[in-house]
Amino acid sequence: MFSALLITKDQTEQSVSVTELAEDALPAGNVGVAVEYSTLNYKDALAITGRSPIVRSFPMVPGIDLAGVVTDSSHSAWKPGDRVVLNGWGVGERHWGGLAQRARLDGDWLIPLPAELTTRQAMALGTAGYTASLCVEALLASGVRPDQGEVLVTGATGGVGSVAVALLARAGYTVAASTGTTAEAEYLQGLGATSVLDRAELSGPGKPLQKERWAGVVDSVGSHTLVNACAQTRYGGAVAACGLAQGMDLPATVAPFILRGVSLLGVDSVMAPLDRRRAAWDRLSRDLDPAAIEVIASEIPLSDAIATAGSLLDGAIRGRVVVDVN
Ligand code: NDP
Repeated sequence: MFSALLITKDQTEQSVSVTELAEDALPAGNVGVAVEYSTLNYKDALAITGRSPIVRSFPMVPGIDLAGVVTDSSHSAWKPGDRVVLNGWGVGERHWGGLAQRARLDGDWLIPLPAELTTRQAMALGTAGYTASLCVEALLASGVRPDQGEVLVTGATGGVGSVAVALLARAGYTVAASTGTTAEAEYLQGLGATSVLDRAELSGPGKPLQKERWAGVVDSVGSHTLVNACAQTRYGGAVAACGLAQGMDLPATVAPFILRGVSLLGVDSVMAPLDRRRAAWDRLSRDLDPAAIEVIASEIPLSDAIATAGSLLDGAIRGRVVVDVN
């Protein structure tokens, strides 16, 4: 038997609780994993609270991330004892996920945990951290360099934002952090931000072209914030867009793209190919100071995941939440 967070649904509403399950209840898969740590992402909070239709089939164990040790495998790449990390691929949405002590998965979804990271550190980063790393890779690939000027990170005290600030600062960029929680300025400066903006400066309707400020942007917020970020990006700069914390809408004009050659780079973590995942995790393991990971992370037991999901959606959580499932 093992403990899991289980979401069930009857005709009208969903319910969620920590439940004891038998190993044979796990879905089909060619690799078994003893989960050591999972995490709470924005998407997990939406799934647990039912505020968005993230879960595609019921009953469902949520958790789009996990890190643990292979217990059994009929997949050629994995053997018992291997330390692995999993992000996305529909896990926690269509296939039982990481908020449990056991998982059974397709071995093609796993990547080796970088030797420099513990399973707890990997989950302190989780999909949010790995997505932040994909965004940094995207900016670099589009030619944004530290000597070209300041870069902006929106949603800066969130999971994606916090890790993006730390990674960009470490890579030598001058980082401006936009936040609704300006009381967290010290936290953001500790991660490497050189300036902190009130997000209200970016969150309302603005002119199609504004003063050129940013060489590059990592945006986890969407909506007017992303539109203003594009309108403030310097000639030839790039904006990596990965989130929708403010909204899914994009009330923009094409002016920054056709008059300043600004690039809007879409970043998806869920179906990203393995080579990009490995590169993103390599960057995380190489560039992030373990102390910065600790500053970003807080830890909860599995039994607190339901209450914490509500707080996360209410914007009351800073950084990343690690879930100790054991
Ligand atoms: P968090 O909840 O940890 O952070 C989101 C942050 O956005 C908050 O901390 C807050 O930061 C800011 N924010 C919240 N509400 C608003 C608002 N109404 N207007 C402006 N800013 C707001 O989430 P994550 O960092 O984990 O994820 C961020 C976004 O990225 C989510 O939309 C998530 O779904 C998406 N995402 C996408 C992925 C992909 O594959 N493309 C993968 C991972 C995440 P502050 O208080 O500092 O302003």
